Amino acid sequence: MRSIDHFIGGSSFASGDRQGEVFNPSQGEIQATVRLGTTADLQKAIDAAKAAQPAWAATNPQRRARVMFNYKALVEANMEELAELLASEHGKVIADAKGDIQRGLEVIEFACGIPHALKGEYTQGAGPGIDVYSMRQPLGIGAGITPFNFPAMIPMWMFGVAIACGNAFILKPSERDPSVPVRLAELMKEAGLPDGILNVVHGDKEMVDAILDHPDIAAISFVGSSDIAQYIFSRGTALNKRVQAFGGAKNHGIVMPDADLDQVVNDLSGAAFGSAGERCMALPVVVPVGDKTADALREKLIPAINALKVGVSTDPEAHYGPVVNEAHKQRVEQWIQTCADEGGELVVDGRGFTLQGHEKGFFVGPTFFDHVKPTFRSYQEEIFGPVLQMVRAQSFEEAVRLPSEHQYGNGVAIFTRNGHAAREFAARVNVGMVGINVPIPVPVAYHTFGGWKRSGFGDLDQHGPEGVKFWTKVKKITQRWPDGSAGGENAFVIPTMG
Ligand code: NAD
Repeated sequence: MRSIDHFIGGSSFASGDRQGEVFNPSQGEIQATVRLGTTADLQKAIDAAKAAQPAWAATNPQRRARVMFNYKALVEANMEELAELLASEHGKVIADAKGDIQRGLEVIEFACGIPHALKGEYTQGAGPGIDVYSMRQPLGIGAGITPFNFPAMIPMWMFGVAIACGNAFILKPSERDPSVPVRLAELMKEAGLPDGILNVVHGDKEMVDAILDHPDIAAISFVGSSDIAQYIFSRGTALNKRVQAFGGAKNHGIVMPDADLDQVVNDLSGAAFGSAGERCMALPVVVPVGDKTADALREKLIPAINALKVGVSTDPEAHYGPVVNEAHKQRVEQWIQTCADEGGELVVDGRGFTLQGHEKGFFVGPTFFDHVKPTFRSYQEEIFGPVLQMVRAQSFEEAVRLPSEHQYGNGVAIFTRNGHAAREFAARVNVGMVGINVPIPVPVAYHTFGGWKRSGFGDLDQHGPEGVKFWTKVKKITQRWPDGSAGGENAFVIPTMG
């Protein structure tokens, strides 16, 4: 059986007896094992990072950017192989796996412009003979802890910017689909990145805790579920690390009475069921405004949902593939039961779905509930599966209130032809990312990504200018070059510009 090992100091590193199982979710079978590392394994990565980082930080930013340019070309050249590997461990269909890689590459493209993004500020003559300037310096060693659902994009969000800024990086990817992160690191070496600047350590809680507690790690970026995000944020910040930690989601799609319902059905099918609903920017809740809108939408949605094709990740016709593992399949099916028990009307039931020839695969059919209430636990919590819940709102005000009062605040979308309603909604809703007739409003790489409330802990977002801020610290310099003539003010009084 293939063993997925750590990647430290530019080489594969196998150590330890503890191993995790990596499945092929389409087949329901174990296809590889992954090392579950220890504090000692982390120390090896820290030693490699520490040895390499000062020279990398001293490399001028244009040269660092050139590694990013090479990397972009290399990842593109290896796109097919990476997408197949990704799909085989995650279960998403190949076209979607390519999207996962491409969205990460767009952050690498942003990182190609790092010399510009790192420029400091300068004020000449801030006082008599005094200039003030600032410089952005790398933090040293940063770490990224990533979820299973975007095994290429999310690591690249983090290491693309961190490394371009002059840091060394330790990536702890999800133990459920760890192969692509290792391939991404190998390709960085091929692109010319010095050994030790990008290391991949595998593991579970033991490795995460080792990262949290290690005094040489200056900053941690985390993406995953909310309880873990909160844990990472509190433990990391208590140890004086810089931490950004992004959590779960329950995104709402508001459908106004004037919306183009055919467009909405099209957008919702992809946003609710694409990638088996395993996206933090999926749209698992639809909120039509008024019963007339709800009834008309329901009538169009049911045939569209019944027409969805669930298949293995290599099936080019499939709209979505299996969920990530058996435990998650059971969890999603349990939530379907809970929602039905709570009084939701189960219009399309995806439980018990099997695919001929792939009976052991972790498939869940598309599921649709109507008449879901905000008091349901199945509405309040994230399901992270191909389950769409319809919550009927009676007014625009109620539609603004539902996502605003939800514990999560990652993304939200409004479908309407009314510019005034859209503008009001965007200004008032208490959610971090808003789509107007855009179902999955993930901002492009040179903007920033981040949710609010229990979807995001910390105050700086991922990638774009906020990412540069997160991975650097600002040094402020006040300089004076006296001409030698004596004089000056009373040194015991705080200098002012008065
Ligand atoms: P997860 O929280 O189970 O795992 C995320 C990471 O934390 C993994 O690397 C895992 O090894 C580690 N981890 C797991 N349990 C831990 C523990 N007890 N202590 C310390 N570390 C632990 O998340 P997942 O199932 O891999 O990913 C799905 C979740 O991620 C969903 O909630 C989804 O909404 C969220 N997500 C959020 C965003 C966002 O940007 N907000 C993006 C993608 C995914």
